[in-house]
Amino acid sequence: MLLDVWYWVAIGIGTLAGMWAQAKVKGAFAKYSQFTTRSGLTGADVARKILQQYNIHDVTVEPVPGALSDHYDPRTKTLRLSEPVYASRSMAAFGIAAHEVGHAIQHAENYGALKFRSAWVPVAGLGGKISMFVIIASLLLGGMATVGSLSWLLGWVGLALFATTTIFTLVTLPVEFDASKRAIYALDQGGFTTGEELQGAKKVLDAAAMTYVAAALASFVQLLYWASLLLGGRRD
Ligand SMILES: [Zn+2]
Repeated sequence: MLLDVWYWVAIGIGTLAGMWAQAKVKGAFAKYSQFTTRSGLTGADVARKILQQYNIHDVTVEPVPGALSDHYDPRTKTLRLSEPVYASRSMAAFGIAAHEVGHAIQHAENYGALKFRSAWVPVAGLGGKISMFVIIASLLLGGMATVGSLSWLLGWVGLALFATTTIFTLVTLPVEFDASKRAIYALDQGGFTTGEELQGAKKVLDAAAMTYVAAALASFVQLLYWASLLLGGRRD
C-alpha cells in the first residue's frame, strides 16, 4: 500500500525538481562568481553598506563555513554569509549578500509574510512530525471511504497536519521573492553595481528562488498523493 508506484512517482517529481533547481543555482553561482564587480567591495562590505542605508544598525554581519549556507537569523539579528560570499567581489556574492540583507530589512519593517512564516515554523515542525503516524493509522483502519468513521476523521486530521508543511513551503515563496526584489533594488539604488553586474546578481537570485519553488511543488505533490490514497480515489 505504502510502496506503490504512485508513491515513487510523487517522491520522484519532488526529488527531480529539487535536483534540477540545485543544479541551476550551483551553476549560476559558479558562473557569476567568475565576474568581479568594479566597486572593489566584498559581499560583506555591500551587506554592511546596504544595512547602513536602511538605518539598520543592530544587525551583525559575520562569515559562516560552507557553500550557499548564507542566511539571516532574526532571533540574534545576525547576517551570516558563507565564506565564498563574505570575502568575494563577484556579482554572485553581491546578489546573495544583498538578498540576505533583504531578509534583515523585512524583519526591521515587520514584513507580514516573514512574520507569518516565523510564527508558522513550530506549527509546521509539529505537523510534519506527527502527520505520517495519523495518516498511516487512518489507512490501516480503512482510510476515508466511510464518512463519519474514526479512520475518516483521522484521515482529515492527518491531511491537515501534513498541509501545515505545504503551507510553510508556500509562504516561504513571497518571503524569498520579496528579499530578492529588495536586493536588486538596493544594489541598483546604492550604486554598487553597473547594469551588467546587476543582471548577473539577478540571475543568481532567480536560480536560488527556483529551489523554493521546487520545495513547494514537492510538498504539494506529496499532499495530493496522501489525499488520493486516503480518499480511495485511486485503486491498485
Ligand atoms: Zn532568502
